[in-house]
Amino acid sequence: MTMSQTLQAAFNDQIQLEFSSAYTYLGMAAWCESRDLAGFARWMRAQASEETQHAMKFLDFVLERDGTITLQPIEAPSGGFSSVLDVLEQALGHEQRVTAAIGRLYGQASEEGDYSSLPLLQWFMGEQVEEEATVRQIVAELRMVGDDTSALLLLDRDMGGRRGPPPDAA
Ligand code: MG
Repeated sequence: MTMSQTLQAAFNDQIQLEFSSAYTYLGMAAWCESRDLAGFARWMRAQASEETQHAMKFLDFVLERDGTITLQPIEAPSGGFSSVLDVLEQALGHEQRVTAAIGRLYGQASEEGDYSSLPLLQWFMGEQVEEEATVRQIVAELRMVGDDTSALLLLDRDMGGRRGPPPDAA
């Protein structure tokens, strides 16, 4: 069964959102890098590459369903951050918007009876639960760190190590 035009349009919107996410994380990576927070920067870069893989996963799916890809422009992300906590709070807000968007896509596919889309969207819903939990934890730790630069350096080291999502995770 071919996807409806409206569902194809919604998937194309999601592809744009995933590429925007990659761009958002790339901007955050650059901000962290320029403030010598190499661990946070590395983590943000890994996020950016994961978001690109999400976009590709949606893109491949649409093509597999004989749908049409219409790539949309990607806006420049806002580069204004007041602190690394602000960066992570914005990242959390962004992930929450992505979760809501995938939820709407799931709802639309269900309503149309496009059941072939549901396993993929289900996978993304699970992925979003993990993303939000990870970012929420980092936000909590940054709040604990407060103005303590020694603690921030330790957290930065931690971010650059075990908490970097594997680059091939998709
Ligand atoms: Mg994503």
